[in-house]
Amino acid sequence: MDYHALADLLFADITQTPEDIAAKYPPRQLKEGAKVTRIAPSPTGFMHLGNLFGAIADERLAHQSGGIFYLRIEDTDQKREVEGGVETILKVFSDYELPFDEGAVLDGDNGLYGPYRQRQRAKIYQTYAKWLVQQGKAYPCFCTEADLAAIREKQAELKENFGYYGKYAVHRDMPFDEVKAKIDAGEPFVLRFRSEGSLERRVKFNDLVKGTMEFPENDQDVVLLKSDGIPTYHFAHVIDDHLMGTTHVVRGEEWLATLPIHLQLFAAMGWKPPKYIHTAQLMKMDGGSKRKLSKRKDPELALDFYKEQGYCVAAVKEYILTLLNSNFEDWRLANPDAPLESFNFTTKKMGVSGALFDIDKLGDVSKNVISRMTADEVYDLLTEWAKQYDPDFYAILARDPAYSKAILAIGRGGKKPRKDIMIWSQAKDYMSFFFDELFVPDFSFSQDGLSPELTRRALEEYPALYDPADDNSAWFEKVKGLAASLGCATDMREYKKNPEAYPGSVTDVSTVLREAITGRRNSPDLCEIMKLLGRERVMKRLAAARATLG
Ligand code: GLU
Repeated sequence: MDYHALADLLFADITQTPEDIAAKYPPRQLKEGAKVTRIAPSPTGFMHLGNLFGAIADERLAHQSGGIFYLRIEDTDQKREVEGGVETILKVFSDYELPFDEGAVLDGDNGLYGPYRQRQRAKIYQTYAKWLVQQGKAYPCFCTEADLAAIREKQAELKENFGYYGKYAVHRDMPFDEVKAKIDAGEPFVLRFRSEGSLERRVKFNDLVKGTMEFPENDQDVVLLKSDGIPTYHFAHVIDDHLMGTTHVVRGEEWLATLPIHLQLFAAMGWKPPKYIHTAQLMKMDGGSKRKLSKRKDPELALDFYKEQGYCVAAVKEYILTLLNSNFEDWRLANPDAPLESFNFTTKKMGVSGALFDIDKLGDVSKNVISRMTADEVYDLLTEWAKQYDPDFYAILARDPAYSKAILAIGRGGKKPRKDIMIWSQAKDYMSFFFDELFVPDFSFSQDGLSPELTRRALEEYPALYDPADDNSAWFEKVKGLAASLGCATDMREYKKNPEAYPGSVTDVSTVLREAITGRRNSPDLCEIMKLLGRERVMKRLAAARATLG
C-alpha cells in the first residue's frame, strides 16, 4: 500500500506539515518547575462543581509554581454546544476569581498557543492525521452504523469483547483502489488509529495522585477524526496538550478508562505525555450510603445553584480546598485570616478515592468566612446578590446604606464574631425586623417564661425606663431593675438553683422585650438593636405588643 498516496487522497487540501505546525508552538520559556495547566470545558452551558474542583487545583498548581493556567474550549461536539456556552464558562471563572493567563476570550483568543477553540484547530488535527496515514498508523473506515451494529451482534453471540479491533477492524487493510472508489463516490468515513496494542500486554503509568497503575494496552482502532474531519477527545487532547505545552493534566477519573489510548497516541506521535492527576469523583451521602453527585438528582451539582442561593465565592472556594487538600482545614485553623494563595497546595495531599461533598459543611465554612468579613464587605456582596435575585430587598438595603451597614456590623469584629449569615438569600430573614415593611410581629409570648400578667406589666413598665443614650451595661441594669420590680430573679445562678422560688428571671423579661421588638425569641444584642431601630420604633412596637394582651 502506498500510504503517501492514501494520505493525499484523504487530505488533498492539507499542505502544511507537522514541522510547520511545531514551528508555531515553540517550547515555553518558563522557570524550572513551572507548571502549565489548563481547563478544557465543553460549552454546554452547564457548569458544575467538578469544573470548579479541577480548575482550583489547576490554578493553584500553575500560579504557585510561576507557571501558566489557560482555558481551552472543547467544542468538538456541536450537538452539545449551546449559544452563550463560552460566555458562561468565562463568567464562572471570573466570578470565582480564577484568572487565566491565556486562552479563549469572548471574541477570540489571548495568547500565543491558540487558537484555543478546538473547532478552529481542525486543520492542525488533520495535518497530524495525514502524517499518521503516511506512516500507515491511521486509515479510513467507511463502516456505517448498521455495519458497526452487525459487528457488535456477532461479538455478543461469540461472547467476545466489543469494539473495532483485530479481525473486526474490517477496513484496516482496504486496498487503495477500493478506498479511492468510495471517496470518489462521496462516501463518508472516519479516520481510525491502527492499534498495535494487545490486551495481553500491560502499560504502567504513574498518576500523581493515584500512584502507579497498570492497565491492559489498548487494542481498539479508535476514531481519531469523525466524518466531519473534527477530532475525538482522544486525538485532540494529545495534540493540544502537546502543542500548548501542558505539563500537568488535571481531569476527572472517568478518563482513566481511556488513558491507555492516550498513552498509545502520545507514543505514536513521538511525544512525551504530560503528568496526569485524575481527580476523585464528587460523592454525597444519600440515605446512609455514598453515591456520585448526579446532574438529574442533585441541584447542588450545578454552579448556578450557589449563585442563586447566594453562597459567597470565597466560601465555596475555601470549602473546595478542604476537599482537595486534606491538610487545608488545619492550615485554615492556624491561619484564620491568611489569603488562600498563601496555602501550599500540593498533589500529595489530594484524595485517592471519592471526595465527599457535604453541603452542611459548606454552610459552616460559609458562616465562618462571612463572619470574618467587614460590614462593608458584607454589604457590597449582599447588595450585589440582591440586585440580581431579590430586587425588592435590594431597594430596601440600598435606601439607607449606612443603616444597612450598621445592622450588618452587629456582633462583627472581635475574637468571636457572630455567625448569623450563611448565604445571602437568608440575610433578608435575619435582617427583616430592622425594616418596618419586612417586620413580622409575633407576640405569642406563649412559650415558657413569664405569666401573661407579668408579660403585660413588663411591656407597660419598660418604656418609662428606656433611654437610648444608655450604654450596654446601663441598659442591662434597667432590664434587671424591671425584673426585680416584677419579683423575678436578677441573678441567673441563683435562679437556676431554685427556679420554683421566682415567677421568672431577668432572661425571661428580656425575652419578652426581644419578642415585642424583633418578633423572635433569639436575636443579636437587643440593646444594639434598639439603638439602631430608634426610640420611636421601639416604643411603637412595645405598645403594639402590649395592645395584643388586652
Ligand atoms: N472536555 C473534557 C471534559 O469536559 C476535558 C477533560 C480534560 O480536562 O482533559 O471532561
